[in-house]
Amino acid sequence: MSECPHVAVMPRPEPAPAADTCPECLADGTHPVQLRLCLSCGHVGCCDSSAGRHATGHFHSTGHPVMRTFEPGEAWRWCFVDGSIV
Ligand SMILES: [Zn+2]
Ligand SMILES: [Zn+2]
Ligand SMILES: [Zn+2]
Repeated sequence: MSECPHVAVMPRPEPAPAADTCPECLADGTHPVQLRLCLSCGHVGCCDSSAGRHATGHFHSTGHPVMRTFEPGEAWRWCFVDGSIV
């Protein structure tokens, strides 16, 4: 059971994905390992196993707290503020 207050204030329905890959990796010429979707704005960024860690970078630049996996067959959310699956 999640204690995360941030999930409750995410837009419903969730924002449409802004891209189908990490645009910052595309610009940098790096390769995303896995993709994450920001549940505040639909930003798509790469995971912390990727060179750019752009999903985490997005949190640091915007403060958007919750993302979910953007990988087919996976279903989980991560809150950067709580530092846990939510
Ligand atoms: Zn939270
Ligand atoms: Zn990236
Ligand atoms: Zn965002």
